[in-house]
Amino acid sequence: MNIILLGAPGAGKGTQATKISERYRLPHISTGDIFRANIKNGTEIGLLAKSYIDKGELVPDEVTCAIVKDRLTWEDAKDGCLLDGFPRNLFQAAELDKFAKIDAVVNINIDFSLLMDRLCGRRVCKECGESYHVSTLNGATVCSRCGGELYQRKDDNPETVKSRLEVYNEQTAPLIDYYTKRGIILNFTGSEAPADVLFAEIAAVLDKKIG
Ligand code: AMP
Repeated sequence: MNIILLGAPGAGKGTQATKISERYRLPHISTGDIFRANIKNGTEIGLLAKSYIDKGELVPDEVTCAIVKDRLTWEDAKDGCLLDGFPRNLFQAAELDKFAKIDAVVNINIDFSLLMDRLCGRRVCKECGESYHVSTLNGATVCSRCGGELYQRKDDNPETVKSRLEVYNEQTAPLIDYYTKRGIILNFTGSEAPADVLFAEIAAVLDKKIG
């Protein structure tokens, strides 16, 4: 079973992805995480990706699609995977159709007015990727789950967030229609409620689909 997780930046895709991937034993494939790992390791792809990510723009389709196409050939993805942050435009969706069959798209809708504060206040664990909001940390600088150091993503600043949200509206949101027409979209609404509340809703629907 191949599942796509769709939603604006800050909608809670990463948090839900971790939970979905654990419950249904699907490898979590996040193109954003792959790019950040490449940046950290100073690879050629990382260097290229950084120039786009820092501006809140999309990394070129050819590079992104090639990475995902290769990643899907790994042994752990042979029975399916959870794609987080890919596809991000219609071109990528059409490319994906050439090398994978998508069974379900979990779409998280969210009120845009929540996103600027969520993203600019986000702190992420360097080790396990868990995210927090600065307002709930009470000054803590390490992850309560694994003790890893918390950091602020470079693209979580007001100017870059603005571009990322524009890119979402212009390029990614049309995917909702694309997958709705295909009859495989599952719609959910994100909110300020704890992530477990949304996950319970998602799991109730996916349990029926996946069994
Ligand atoms: P994310 O971690 O999903 O918020 O992604 C962070 C950044 O990585 C995005 O703002 C893009 O610059 C880049 N990125 C992630 N996924 C893609 C994709 N599918 N296509 C192009 N760029 C991407």
